[in-house]
Amino acid sequence: MNHNALAIDGPAAAGKSTVAKLLAKRLGYIYIDTGAMYRAATYKALIQNVDLNDPNAFSFLDNTKMEFHDGELYMDNENIASKIRSHQVSNNVSLVSSHIPVRIKLVAIQQKIAKNANVVMDGRDIGTVVLPHADLKIFMTASVEERARRRHEENLLSGIESEYTRILKDIEKRDKFDSTRLYNPLRQAEDALYLDTTNLDINEVTDNIYNLFIAIINAKRSE
Ligand code: C5P
Repeated sequence: MNHNALAIDGPAAAGKSTVAKLLAKRLGYIYIDTGAMYRAATYKALIQNVDLNDPNAFSFLDNTKMEFHDGELYMDNENIASKIRSHQVSNNVSLVSSHIPVRIKLVAIQQKIAKNANVVMDGRDIGTVVLPHADLKIFMTASVEERARRRHEENLLSGIESEYTRILKDIEKRDKFDSTRLYNPLRQAEDALYLDTTNLDINEVTDNIYNLFIAIINAKRSE
């Protein structure tokens, strides 16, 4: 059976995961946060003290289990949702995710999940590489100041220590690294819908994507 897929790509802290989670819940689909998977690979590499600059140091991923339950990532049966949000992980994840063996491994897991279930998947290369035949592709962005402001507020609400200027710098650095890496960089797919959410309400954005997606799925059904 051909499952349905909604792909959301965009730079760091653009609101992708908030919108993707709401959409997945409303659609009854599985939410796959691919950024969490790259963060998890980084977290495990840091614990194992491997050389993060060496693309061949990540063979431990062959024996690493990654699964999503209720939108949260479990690595080797442990819920690591909060551990992968540390500054140390954020600071190193772009380097780790630029390595080809890491991407090949994680993209294969992502494609397998989407082959077996209806998904809302967010990341950087979903529309271009992971799910090039997704039913709908969104490229979501916002000004870097607005993205830093949102992330800062999110952190404060979750009781995470936060400093606006540091977040702004981190985001700028990650975006630059992610969009200039050679293999599968952050890029808008040609057939993706571009959405600048700087001045938009997240609930409104979610409603609009939902309505569009349902129309596409209904049209697909009646084909
Ligand atoms: O989405 P999030 O900001 O948590 O992603 C963390 C990092 O993981 C990104 O900055 C990027 O380096 C990497 N990533 C990626 N490809 C994806 C998702 C995330 O390279 N599909």
